[in-house]
Amino acid sequence: MKRISFQLSFKIFQWVLVLIIIFSTYLGYRFYQVTYQSKAIENQRFWIVTVLNKYRMRSDTMSFLARQYLLNLNPRNLSEYQTLLNKKNPLIYAGFENEIKAAKVSNLSEETVYRPFSEYEHILIKEMMDDDKKLRAIEKSEFDRVSGLRGSNYQNKKIAVKGLQTESYLKLNLALMNMTNQLLNSVNQRFLLRAKKKDSEREALVYTIPLVLCMNIILLILSLLFINKRMGRYHSDLEGLTVKDFLTGVHNRKYLMETGPMLLALNRREQSRVALLMLDIDNFKGVNDKYGHDSGDKVLQAFSNNIIKRMRKGDIFSRFGGEEFVLVLNRMTEREAEKFANELRVLLSSQSVSTAQGDVSYTVSIGVIMSDETSELKSLIDNADKALYKAKREGRDKVVMFQEKCIVSPLAV
Ligand code: GH3
Ligand code: MG
Ligand code: MG
Repeated sequence: MKRISFQLSFKIFQWVLVLIIIFSTYLGYRFYQVTYQSKAIENQRFWIVTVLNKYRMRSDTMSFLARQYLLNLNPRNLSEYQTLLNKKNPLIYAGFENEIKAAKVSNLSEETVYRPFSEYEHILIKEMMDDDKKLRAIEKSEFDRVSGLRGSNYQNKKIAVKGLQTESYLKLNLALMNMTNQLLNSVNQRFLLRAKKKDSEREALVYTIPLVLCMNIILLILSLLFINKRMGRYHSDLEGLTVKDFLTGVHNRKYLMETGPMLLALNRREQSRVALLMLDIDNFKGVNDKYGHDSGDKVLQAFSNNIIKRMRKGDIFSRFGGEEFVLVLNRMTEREAEKFANELRVLLSSQSVSTAQGDVSYTVSIGVIMSDETSELKSLIDNADKALYKAKREGRDKVVMFQEKCIVSPLAV
């Protein structure tokens, strides 16, 4: 269960990290995009304004050249006029369907390649083009008329330019100029508004990014602290698993063999003695046979819990193997140990264990040995085992204190 929750928290941590990375990358990308877009808007505005200015000058220059030509019939004026006439204004003449292409700002998304003109500006441009056509047509008809005049007729230059001094021609010219100005203003304002919007977006990102980065760092540190704590707990859980018995939760033989000698050394230093009890449930095989293995397990658990309740701090209780347990008690005299062992034996036999197959009563046999100045854990265990054998031999449900005479061949049992 703990392992699963650890794995889950690790997964959550991983996802948090992935989300942090995605979000930060997105913010960084967005910042780059907005910066790039606001630059693109400015470039586009500049380009459109430049083109429109040229267009304004073009019309002026053409009227001027037309007049000059009509006055002097200088072919250079006419050819310059023709050049301007043929020169297509990329913005105006590219055609409105193609305006995005005309306003090409390389490698930008659809949104960035902003439609250069609004509906109102489209109308203005259409009218400008109409006026332009009319002006050019008037100029052409004047050229045609003058080319028909010969000799003295042409001497009256005033007549020649008269066609370009009519009210309608001048009005058209003025209207074209006004419309170009209006177009320029409109385009400028719209683009400036757009650039402003992008700038405020960019500004918001400038403030957000460090904030998000700080939050990310805090989140990362918290996650690391959390994971560290979980790791520590997981580690100690694992350690516990190596020294604990799975079924009863009491320490195992490995733990007894590792910590027992330390307990002995401690008692030796304090000049006190240790009592080592070897406990074995009587006829346990019979319990398993009669009530089933699961009931046997329950008995082992109840047995262990009962003993744990009677232990003092520093005592060791371990499952030595099967239904054999070793209890090491600190600072004991022989009499105390015998009394304790007997009390334990009576207590255990008096408490039946309820199982699915019915209540199970059992007894235990206990072999007890006291440590002395030179005792080794291993020999204490061996001798307690011998005392236990004696208890079994004498009919079970008994406590036997080890004495040299306990040493008999197990075959005699
Ligand atoms: P004795 O009074 O001589 O000790 O008789 P016994 O039947 O208790 O002794 P024996 O050593 O012959 O049998 C021990 C039994 O304990 C055999 C084994 O199946 C059972 N046992 C060992 N470990 C477990 C366990 O974890 N769960 C259960 N249910 N039984 C176990
Ligand atoms: Mg037994
Ligand atoms: Mg046994």
